[in-house]
Amino acid sequence: MNIFAPMAKISIDINSGTIQKESAVIGIDLGTTNSLIATINYKTQKPYCITKNNKSIVPSTIYFGEQNIIVGEEASKKLITDPNNTLYSIKRLMGKSYHDVVEQSNQLNYQIIDNQDKLVQVKINDRFYTPIELSSFILKELKSVGADQLNKEIQKVVITVPAYFDDSQRQATRDAGKLAGLDVLRIINEPTAASLAYGLGLDKEESKIVAVYDLGGGTFDISILNIQQGIFEVLSTNGDTHLGGDDFDHAIVNHWITQHSITKLTNSDRQLLRITGEQAKKELSSNSKFKKTIQISNKDLKVTLNREELENVIQPIIDRTISICNNALSDADISAYKIQEVVLVGGSTRTPKVKNSIQNLFPDAKINDQINPDEVVALGAAIEADILAGNRTDLLLLDVTPLSLGLETIGGLMDVLIPRNSKVPSQLKKEYTTSVDGQINLAINVYQGEREMIADNRKIGEFILKGIPSMPAGIPKVELTFLINTDGILQVSAMELRSGVSQEVTLKPQYGITDQEIKNMLQESLSFAQSDMDKRSLAESTTEAKQLIYATQKFIRENKALLTPKDIAKLDEIMQGLTQCINKKDQNAISSHIEKLNEFSRPFAEKVMDHQISKALSGKKIN
Ligand code: ADP
Ligand code: MG
Repeated sequence: MNIFAPMAKISIDINSGTIQKESAVIGIDLGTTNSLIATINYKTQKPYCITKNNKSIVPSTIYFGEQNIIVGEEASKKLITDPNNTLYSIKRLMGKSYHDVVEQSNQLNYQIIDNQDKLVQVKINDRFYTPIELSSFILKELKSVGADQLNKEIQKVVITVPAYFDDSQRQATRDAGKLAGLDVLRIINEPTAASLAYGLGLDKEESKIVAVYDLGGGTFDISILNIQQGIFEVLSTNGDTHLGGDDFDHAIVNHWITQHSITKLTNSDRQLLRITGEQAKKELSSNSKFKKTIQISNKDLKVTLNREELENVIQPIIDRTISICNNALSDADISAYKIQEVVLVGGSTRTPKVKNSIQNLFPDAKINDQINPDEVVALGAAIEADILAGNRTDLLLLDVTPLSLGLETIGGLMDVLIPRNSKVPSQLKKEYTTSVDGQINLAINVYQGEREMIADNRKIGEFILKGIPSMPAGIPKVELTFLINTDGILQVSAMELRSGVSQEVTLKPQYGITDQEIKNMLQESLSFAQSDMDKRSLAESTTEAKQLIYATQKFIRENKALLTPKDIAKLDEIMQGLTQCINKKDQNAISSHIEKLNEFSRPFAEKVMDHQISKALSGKKIN
């Protein structure tokens, strides 16, 4: 008898005699300034960053040479010698449209172009690249660093993204992974990864409120997490996508420019000053003084900086991060004293003044800063990859959606299916019906946002459920299922339950929603709450009125024999009055006319109104 057993691939390390797994467990921090790749040491069960020339950091910089494309350290050097062919800060463009980023384009050293496809492109050497392609170059470099060092195929990876990344940005990151030949097991939030690296959430009994303060090169993020039974719940996130260590560098450069009354600078001079400023800042994290002579406009320039000067020029920048932290606390509705642990992420948290300011803000918190703040996210991603590989089965990870997801119902209303801050993965089903007799297609428009009217939210996709068998309005039962997967990517499926006609789409993400937009959408939803409610009730009454007119007309047509000409004239008159109220957008008048029409028609209706009309008059309907 033949027994077919599933075969697991294993390999044995000949030197140590230990059994090794075929593919490595990999976590990747794809950063704005720097990227890293980490894995797990099978003997110690501890994560570590993979290094090349003793360095774990791979600058997220890409150089386009005549013959080849270089990523990392070597590319960073080209920022001075050949800035026009060197790209950085690609992450800022992920999932964005031209219009989303055009305002910041003067801060970039490269040309961005408007693409019909909505997704912004970067022009370099007369070729056009999407941010997805560019990020894939960085991922390919990390992949080859990993493969070289581990001597293994790098395939299954976990990649981190900021907690506020929306659908499009997560999808773009996933696509970049695919393009680099990686199998992206999961996209996880950076603060979740950082907490994991400190073991937070690994003890199931433990319950903690944690702040993750991430000050990188160009971005600042603060996340307040509630970690309970191994579940990571994001209570709030806040940040500024243009605030970080780069601003420290600029502040230092400006300080020198003023100090030395420098008036003219070439592109290369500017880069050299910037790099020297960064060097000064880094050295002052452990020393008290910095001095160096550099060549600016072919002349020697002696620049100096001490701790106190540094702290003076960066104070306003640190203050901005603190006020953002306070906003995050109030969003989460907790006081700074409730924060039990703080996790420090990002190279800029090495600056002593930054650490002091954080401890002042969270007086009762334990500050976790033992792990290298550049590496902590990648290390956590490797732990997550290890969990997904099935090596740590007792853990469950959850993240949340940044904005509500819903669809357009008749009258232009937003019907929320998955509210903002829902845990992912998350699934919701809801039944809808048609609004017109014999309707065979149903347009399903999906929106993201917090406002009551879809016009104020953002459309993220649409599809048409085709081939519904012809039935009277209100009879089809269309069940919609919204499913957000663990990456925060939305899948919508629709099924007409009577006929079994179904359709499913993974929403083609609408590339391009700025963080500012997310912020604005949230703020607007609060400030417009009252007027939104008014608009909503007007829209609802209008819909109800139109439905009623439609049903009444149908009723008259089908039941002429039962009605006198006088009854019909009276019904027409009330319907005309109702139409006028609709045109005047007078909600109270609409309601009272609906009442009137109902009153008058009820005696006839009661006689003949059949099941399907009563159904058409109630319940929510899609256009
Ligand atoms: P990102 O997440 O944006 O890729 P990182 O977390 O790698 O960025 O942080 C990069 C920033 O950290 C840069 O601004 C860099 O100058 C700064 N940085 C690195 N080392 C130090 C240090 N020793 N002291 C102060 N800042 C530092
Ligand atoms: Mg980072």
